[in-house]
Amino acid sequence: MSQVNQVNRESSNKVIFECKCCGHCCHGVATVSVSEEEQKRMAAYLELELNEFRSKFLVQGKHSTSMKIIDGHCIFYGPDGLCSVHPVKPFHCKRWPLHPSILADEAAWKAIKADCPGFSKDATWEDAKELVRKSMNGTK
Ligand code: SF4
Ligand code: SF4
Repeated sequence: MSQVNQVNRESSNKVIFECKCCGHCCHGVATVSVSEEEQKRMAAYLELELNEFRSKFLVQGKHSTSMKIIDGHCIFYGPDGLCSVHPVKPFHCKRWPLHPSILADEAAWKAIKADCPGFSKDATWEDAKELVRKSMNGTK
């Protein structure tokens, strides 16, 4: 789920995005990649040795390392519907759903909006691009 909790449209103060904590983005057949640094932070957070953390929670793919899927969701998706490693979750989880692909591709925006109920129904592609730019500049 997103770390981007709520973003307002500046001109009207209307909420364009607010994470509903629905957990949809933590479900699926695969998870995001986890860098070496992120693995170390997560292992430290869980007070585990790195190798133990890796064997318990990660899966090594051909090109990247990602989190295991259990019962159709990320292994860190808790029974309370929240991320159990929220303070140290991977960058790709923190950034979601403000993915840079939105900037160049309206189809990507439509697909992400359809997948994430956090966007208001009347949020436009222009709104989304503005949020992505702000997020990349660290101004939101
Ligand atoms: S799918 Fe969207 S609204 Fe639901 S948890 Fe993920 S970011 Fe939040
Ligand atoms: S690390 Fe947390 S936010 Fe990221 S997919 Fe897993 S449960 Fe969801």
